[in-house]
Amino acid sequence: MPIEKQPSCEDDQEPALLPVGIALERLAARISPLSETERLGVRESLDRVLSTDVSSPIDVPSYTNSAMDGYAVRSDDFPQQGEATLNVLGTAWAGTPLDVDVKPGEAVRIMTGGMMPAGTDTVIIQEHVQNISTQQGGQYPQVLIDGETPPGRNVRQAGEDIKAGETVIEQGTLLTPAHIGLLASLGVDQVSVYRKLKVAFFSTGDELRALESHAGQSLGPGELFDSNRHTLFAMLRRLGVTLIDLGVVADTAEATRQAFLDASAQADVVISSGGVSAGQADFVSATLAELGEVTFWKLAMRPGRPLAYGKVGDAHFFGLPGNPVAVMVTFYEFVQPSIKRMMGCTDTAPMQFTARSESALRKSPGRVEYQRGVVSTGPDGVVTVQVTGKQGAGRLTSMAMANCLIVIPAECAGVAVGDTVVVQPFHGLM
Ligand code: AMP
Ligand code: MG
Repeated sequence: MPIEKQPSCEDDQEPALLPVGIALERLAARISPLSETERLGVRESLDRVLSTDVSSPIDVPSYTNSAMDGYAVRSDDFPQQGEATLNVLGTAWAGTPLDVDVKPGEAVRIMTGGMMPAGTDTVIIQEHVQNISTQQGGQYPQVLIDGETPPGRNVRQAGEDIKAGETVIEQGTLLTPAHIGLLASLGVDQVSVYRKLKVAFFSTGDELRALESHAGQSLGPGELFDSNRHTLFAMLRRLGVTLIDLGVVADTAEATRQAFLDASAQADVVISSGGVSAGQADFVSATLAELGEVTFWKLAMRPGRPLAYGKVGDAHFFGLPGNPVAVMVTFYEFVQPSIKRMMGCTDTAPMQFTARSESALRKSPGRVEYQRGVVSTGPDGVVTVQVTGKQGAGRLTSMAMANCLIVIPAECAGVAVGDTVVVQPFHGLM
């Protein structure tokens, strides 16, 4: 009698596997932004998420000013033909306005950023006027102008960029350096942001040796250094959350249970790695079912098939696979968007764009595959991507050499050189 085989991670078509898109929808339906907020100084708000719209308290620019060095004039002084002579009343500097009322036949020398004096509406650049000596007995220096500058040219109107009261940054925006500068330009020194998310994480596995206690020591037979906790640390650090590192947890039901309780008591989100498959030393999904609820467990993706998500008390729990590459892929696809959503971000989907594949990629239909790639722009301006060598789920080097994931849809049966593929860069652009 042949052996009756059970479903496993070697199968591409396994009916029990949940499609990635559905898993993401279920996740989005269960995750909402934190309700607590705090007020922070502008600099401290970098990488945090706005909890209210910010509207401008001022017009930008706040006064009508010159965009060039030149002469502020009245356009009704422009001659129909030939030249006109204007008396220059003085100079308006940026930061030192000239308090005059410019009458017909008069002009003011003005520098870039200088406030337009009353009566003027146009700046003629200094290269387009001619200085002439003062007429006999005249009080002011004089310039000759022609009528070729269009009225209104070279003037920045008050409120032209932003009107006072206008919303400039929307609630749910992750604040970047550009936002910090924008807030400062409006004179806004404090903003309301969502509070920091607390994330607890631990590794499971009796084979793991922690770097903290074993650095430089030789590994015994069957032992390996715990890398997942450090990868998680680094990925979480980038998201600006408060980190709670709970170390390495032994492969026993009791230790796993204790780690779950510890973590969920302190954190908004709990992340484990390893022990989530169906082996005899895997306690994660059973513990999640015992202490909380499991929303999904096995997904139609590679790497990353065993990925448990559920809740323990109020904490969201992600049981990531043990394989180091699978940890990163499942983090970027599932954990990162969820964390961003909880942090209050409205824009959580990873950035994706298309590139021409320089590699042939083998694949059978059934699961979404995430291969590690290097995306770059060739001399012809075309964006191309190459796979980074062998793609085993345990090979962290394939990840370290990569700058993107190549996302190959479930139904795809392989990629030929020259095909268009979807890539997802690891980091944001700014
Ligand atoms: P598991 O799902 O626990 O069976 O782990 C799958 C594979 O990932 C095994 O080869 C583990 O040794 C490896 N692994 C699990 N956790 C870690 C970790 N924290 N760091 C490095 N490798 C790990
Ligand atoms: Mg394990």
